[in-house]
Order: sequence, then structure tokens, then C-alpha cells
Amino acid sequence: MSSATTLSALTFELKGRCSRSKARASTLTLPHGPVDLPMFMPVATQASLKGLTPEQLEETSCRLCLNNTYHLGLKPGQAALDAIGGAHKLQGWNYNILTDSGGFQMVSLLKLAKVTEDGVRFLSPHDGTPMLLTPEHSIDLQNSIGSDIIMQLDDVIQTTSPDYDRMKEAMERSVRWLDRCIAAHKNPDRQNLFCIIQGGLDLEMRRECCREMVKRDTPGVAVGGLSGGEAKSEFCKVVDTCTDLLPQQKPRYVMGIGYPEDIVVAVGLGADMFDCVWPTRTARFGNAITAYGVLNLKHARYAEDFAPMEEGCRCTACRPRAEGGLGVTRAYIHHLAAKETVGAHLVTMHNVHHMLDLMKRIRNAILEDSYAAFAKDFFLKYFPKQKGPPDWAVEALKGAGIDLLD
Ligand SMILES: [Zn+2]
Repeated sequence: MSSATTLSALTFELKGRCSRSKARASTLTLPHGPVDLPMFMPVATQASLKGLTPEQLEETSCRLCLNNTYHLGLKPGQAALDAIGGAHKLQGWNYNILTDSGGFQMVSLLKLAKVTEDGVRFLSPHDGTPMLLTPEHSIDLQNSIGSDIIMQLDDVIQTTSPDYDRMKEAMERSVRWLDRCIAAHKNPDRQNLFCIIQGGLDLEMRRECCREMVKRDTPGVAVGGLSGGEAKSEFCKVVDTCTDLLPQQKPRYVMGIGYPEDIVVAVGLGADMFDCVWPTRTARFGNAITAYGVLNLKHARYAEDFAPMEEGCRCTACRPRAEGGLGVTRAYIHHLAAKETVGAHLVTMHNVHHMLDLMKRIRNAILEDSYAAFAKDFFLKYFPKQKGPPDWAVEALKGAGIDLLD
């Protein structure tokens, strides 16, 4: 089964579907090359992935990474980006880049940020002067960055907010801001603008937002505002509801999602793309992600554990020296943990590799139409100390046609 559509600066080709759930495998071809979906994007905050060089990132097989517009806009700034010729050149990265709009960073980092119909008002972190990020300015910045996927400015509210009217205002404003972003976008021939579905945990509001945004026919669609402290069962309902209304022939990106268990469920609900700072952030605390859960290598029990972070892992850190790797052991990371940076780099290398490898295994399972068995096996291993997979995962995947308990 294969069908292709070409939309502005991307091609999206469905390669296979799970016959039981909504999981799909596809190839997304962007201006800097093809990307296999489902996929996970590591977050490179200041045009660099903390702990990895561009060469090391390339070696993990990452072909699309995320940059923060807010950080790039501050440093090196738009004039420098224009002079250099964009973020690809700045970073020495020849593969794809996705940038966020900058709005979420402002609202979450700057306490005094205030959202009005014009945009996000905030005080400059440099000198305290009042500034305004409008949809037009966000797109202008992202045009200077030259990212392959650019995100609309949206009005993001914490999903757990009890204020229905404010949530509705934010959803409707996000649609109006999408129109302003489309009008401001100068490079639709080489940069793909994604809309962002909002509407909190209110499924009817999410449906209305899907209908309005789908009419605007952007090259891809994101589901935003999740991972804000809502119950996992609520998060699943939102993803499930949105994917039912989104076109089959466009990539679907669920923003801010990155725990392996969340990804395995969201893929079953029909999502294709994910990003999260968790795998790299948790690495800096000595936490290695493995198929059998997360290991905190700072724990004394690893002081004399000479196994690799994960048995059989092919990342540069875990791979034996005889096979060109570094042959790093748990004991070595434990020893380094107190001294910070080197240990953090090695665990980052491993965690990014682990996440990308997980996505590869997910994709292969979908292509072989064995995703149900894959999901069962994943949960069995990942939660070894529990009696079974968590209730929310069982419930969500059951609704999608996969019974984790059968
Ligand atoms: Zn490894």
C-alpha cells in the first residue's frame, strides 16, 4: 500500500498501516532529505544538542531535530542569522530542522508574558524593555532561521485550566493567528508551516479546532497544549479525537511528548511525530533509558556493575571497543556522575540513540503489521516491577483495537 501527495515543500508517503490500531508508517521528505515516521525529534535548545556534536547527532541517525526560535532570536539574533544564511549553516547541520514559534518558550520562561490579540507581550530578558512577539514576527524569524518545518504562533493555555471561556478564546485566537502566519510566510516553497490544534481537554473544542485548521490546508498538523500535567487518559482521548479528524495524507505531530510509553500509545492512536526535552534532560541526572525502564546510574548499586548502560545497545557509548565504540560501563558512568559533564554526554548519546532506535523498531513493527505484539512486549519489559501495563495505556490502546492484556 503506497500513495503519495505533494504539498508545498514536503512529500508525505504512507508506507504501511497497522490492521488493528491507527498506527501508520510513512516517509516524510523535507527540503533536507527524507525522514522515516513515526519519529522522535531531540531538542537542540541553542542550536546544539546539549552533550552532542552535530557529527554525533548525525551518527545517531537523527535526520530532523528541533531548535527553539526564542533562543535563536536572542542569540545569535535575526541579523546574524540572515548574514550567516540560517540555522543549518550556523550549526553545520545538513539535515532537517523544525523550529517552534517561540510563544510557548516566552509564556513558560518569562513570568511577565501577557497574551493579547496582537501577540505575546513580554519584557526583554536583556534590558527589561517591553517587546511584542506577533504571529508575523514569529514567522519572519523562522524564515530567517530557514527551518524545514516552522510552527504557527498559538495561544497556549495549560490543559488543566478550569477557565472554559479563556480556553475557547485561546483556541479561536490560534485559528486567527494561523491565518496571519500563512499571510506572513515568505518561503512556502522551501519551508513547511504546521498549524497547531488547541482546545485543552475539551473534545468538542478540539473537534471544532481541527475542522477550522484542516480548512487552512497547511502541509502538516500539530496537536498542541498537551503534556501540561493532565491525566494520561485525558491526553490519549485528545490525540484519539484529533487523529480521527485529520487528513490521512499529512504528517501529525504531537508536541512535547517523549516518554517511551506515551509514544507507543500515541502511535497506536495515529500520531507520527514527537519531541521532548526529557531524554536529554534526564541524561544530565545520570538516568539511562533502557527497554527495561530507566536506570539511575548515580545509585550505589551500579558502582561495580560492568555491563553497558543497555545490553546490546549499538550507541557509540555502549558499543564495545572491539567494535569501534567506547565500551562505557554503568560503573564508569556512576564514577563520573559526580563530576558532571563527561558522564552527562555519554548518557545523552545513549538516550538519544535509544529513542531513535525505539522509533525504528516501532516503524518496523507497523510495516510488518505486528504493532499489537510489539506494544504488548514493550509494556511487559518497560514496567518490570509492576503487575502489568498501566491502566491508562490498556484503556487507550483497547479503544484503538489493541488489547495489551489478552
Ligand atoms: Zn547505548
